[in-house]
Amino acid sequence: MKIITWGSRGSLPASVHSKIIRQKIYAALKAAKDCQFKSEAEMDHFIDTQLPFSVTGGYGTNTSCVEIRDGKELIVLDAGTGLRDFGNYIMQSGKIPCHIHLFMSHVHWDHICGFPFFVPAYIKGNRISIYGFHENMKQVFVSQQNPPCFPVPLAYMQAEKRFYRLNPERTYKIAGFCVKGMKQNHPQLSYGYSFEKDGKKIVYSTDSEHKADSDNENYPFLHFFKDADLLIFDTQYSLMDAIYMKEDWGHSSNILGVELSIRANVKHLCMFHSEPTSSDETLDKMLRETKKYAAIYDDSYLLKVSMAYDGMEISV
Ligand SMILES: [Zn+2]
Ligand SMILES: [Zn+2]
Repeated sequence: MKIITWGSRGSLPASVHSKIIRQKIYAALKAAKDCQFKSEAEMDHFIDTQLPFSVTGGYGTNTSCVEIRDGKELIVLDAGTGLRDFGNYIMQSGKIPCHIHLFMSHVHWDHICGFPFFVPAYIKGNRISIYGFHENMKQVFVSQQNPPCFPVPLAYMQAEKRFYRLNPERTYKIAGFCVKGMKQNHPQLSYGYSFEKDGKKIVYSTDSEHKADSDNENYPFLHFFKDADLLIFDTQYSLMDAIYMKEDWGHSSNILGVELSIRANVKHLCMFHSEPTSSDETLDKMLRETKKYAAIYDDSYLLKVSMAYDGMEISV
């Protein structure tokens, strides 16, 4: 199966304005000033081997939206602005009419604001099942599209939309996966999800703050993350910010991501919900430092570490 991160930023979409593009072009030209390219293949090789990801691309602008692609089922987690790109992918891939399973971590603005721009929701014959643990979830979706906030009411969207309130004490079988939830420390609460199928386990744990009790060997998240093939984890802050400046803001750090991953025997940590003010260079640096920290924390453990970017595909 494949996991696609359609939206990777936290809190607010991050713009890529002309000054940023110009800096990337400048950095690429500077790095290539002594090169003589004889073919496009040589240029590709140079781009792939000599330039950092912050120059060749970037981590993207969209807020939280992750697809689990496995056979015919359409499964998506959170409805941030990345949902718009996911919708465009569905429209172009000829999968209409379809049944989309949308799992909500919570209903903060950055996790719902893509829904009014989700094209498949406007098409009669499509079905959208929306799952979450919060009460009044439907009312939140209705409210964000009511006047004066948005000109098109939710009821105008012609797809059949059903809301399901889940219970974190239960395990569900949905779209071929065993699905479990986990209550997380976040303003107004959020919930993590674990998806298991055919011996593979994916955990989505965004908008979640971990406190001092995470040192405890019985810390419940160790069990929730246990043996995950992929853990998508909120690393919005540095450890210093998470402890000293932004305690109780409801987010976590790359350092805690590494420590919890290794203690829970996770194979691949994907850093997610990046700070919208972080530049691509900052996120490149954070990825390098996090890999180094993983090697220092336990040099006998081979933890794969990546930083989510819009359009990233991970095979599990
Ligand atoms: Zn968020
Ligand atoms: Zn939130």
